[in-house]
Amino acid sequence: MATGPTIVWLRRDLRTDDHAALTAAAERGARVIPVVFVHLERFGSAAAWWLHHSLSALAVELAELGGRLVVRSGPAVDGLIRLAAETGAAHIDYNRHIRPADRADEAQLAAMVGAAVTVTGHRTGNLFEPGEVLTGGGSPYLIYTPFAKACLRAPTCPRPLQAPLRLAWPEQWPGSVDLTSLDLTSAVGVCCGLGHQWEPGPRGAARRVRWLIERRIKHYHTERDRPDLHSTSGLSPHLAFGELSARRLWHAVLHSRGDKPYTELPEGHRRLLDELLWREFAQHTLYHLPHLEQQPLRPRAGDLAWRRDEAGLNSWQRGLTGYPIVDAGMRQLLRLGWIHNRVRMVVASFLVKDLLIDWRHGARYFADRLVDYDEASNGLNWQWAAGSGVDSSPFTRVFNPVTQGARFDPEGRYVRRWVPELAQLPDEVIHAPWAASPTTLAAAGVRLGDTYPLPIVDHATARRRALDAYSAARETEPDGS
Ligand SMILES: Cc1cc2nc3c(=O)[nH]c(=O)nc-3n(C[C@H](O)[C@H](O)[C@H](O)COP(=O)(O)OP(=O)(O)OC[C@H]3O[C@@H](n4cnc5c(N)ncnc54)[C@H](O)[C@@H]3O)c2cc1C
Repeated sequence: MATGPTIVWLRRDLRTDDHAALTAAAERGARVIPVVFVHLERFGSAAAWWLHHSLSALAVELAELGGRLVVRSGPAVDGLIRLAAETGAAHIDYNRHIRPADRADEAQLAAMVGAAVTVTGHRTGNLFEPGEVLTGGGSPYLIYTPFAKACLRAPTCPRPLQAPLRLAWPEQWPGSVDLTSLDLTSAVGVCCGLGHQWEPGPRGAARRVRWLIERRIKHYHTERDRPDLHSTSGLSPHLAFGELSARRLWHAVLHSRGDKPYTELPEGHRRLLDELLWREFAQHTLYHLPHLEQQPLRPRAGDLAWRRDEAGLNSWQRGLTGYPIVDAGMRQLLRLGWIHNRVRMVVASFLVKDLLIDWRHGARYFADRLVDYDEASNGLNWQWAAGSGVDSSPFTRVFNPVTQGARFDPEGRYVRRWVPELAQLPDEVIHAPWAASPTTLAAAGVRLGDTYPLPIVDHATARRRALDAYSAARETEPDGS
């Protein structure tokens, strides 16, 4: 009697390349049923948009191999058990994931599945598995630099697996819902320019990797902090949805320089790999500290007297704070579901320090609006910005939105693009319109408080307020340290 088919359970690993579970099933010669369970509660509105298009792209790729993508809605574990019973599946294969909810699903599946079905978890899409990078004493690294050094000391991460050229499919396909019936694209809002900016799916990812390596990477180390230039890869949503594995990107960068070791690469290449190691650090940190996005890692920072300020939060979310670089970033987020990293740091600092609003409000908003939302990177970076992480920017470091703008958007091109009502202001005042003379404002058609808001806080005053709140929190610490 032929054994039953293999269910390959896909989550944020929406690719066929370097896919350990799919390759294992192919090597067994199994008939494969690739399935995705769409559990909408787990996706913000921008990520849901991306998911729709990513699933469509993967379905096309599988159809070219003669197969299909089975899409079902609702929680995965019950769905998998039902699907196994329906199809007589003998195996369920999946790639392990790091997020606490995903790991809980994996544990629940193992506990609930009957003896007739073998369940196998394979490598994540990360460079290393969490237990592979530990200190000499066997504990996780909590600081980036030693973590990165340990990754670079280790033998390089495994080479990516090639996508299977042929897969066997079931004789009868189980039912699948029509993707459009899930209505994944409407929540993000009609104003969005997502479709013009992004090409979700593995082919879009591969195109960006080529562009990065052929055109961009040589300038990466000098330009990566410039939001006004196309200075970074834009690969984060592809990585977040697993359309591209971190291993594939890592080896593509090495391969572009004849597989030289990290230390012999040009600086642009090394800096890009360093950023991938930040991503990796976030993944491993979330694995070991699953409350990364909910609880401050250093409790003192959690005791800060955060302000309840609905109006301030609302102005920040809508890009109406009166600080051009902050507003440009938040409007870029609304339109593209993405913000340049430097500006993410500036807007996060503004929320947490200038407005003294709890960083978790910012993290939740990003979770809803980012196409590249990733619990690990979001949690780690918000804690970094709030000074509550283990390896953080100190709370006393408060970004000045005017000098950050002048330094990283020197001609104001980024602000002009995203805050068009300021477009006619001269460079000298583009990051501080309140400093412009009435004549300059009038000539640029800017009426502060009318066509563009006055600053909702005075930065110098807000900075002092933040530092006072931080000192007060320190004084309430038992040891005052
Ligand atoms: C407050 C805040 C929240 C953030 N939330 C997220 C998030 O939800 N998802 C997310 O992917 N990134 C997040 N980041 C990190 C970073 O801003 C983005 O990864 C980066 O801007 C993506 O653009 P890129 O792909 O062009 O990056 P590139 O500069 O081209 O870098 C290549 C890759 O390295 C990784 N990377 C780069 N910078 C970081 C970083 N600081 N931390 C972790 N990984 C990094 C990303 O996977 C990125 O795609 C956040 C940063 C801040 C300050």
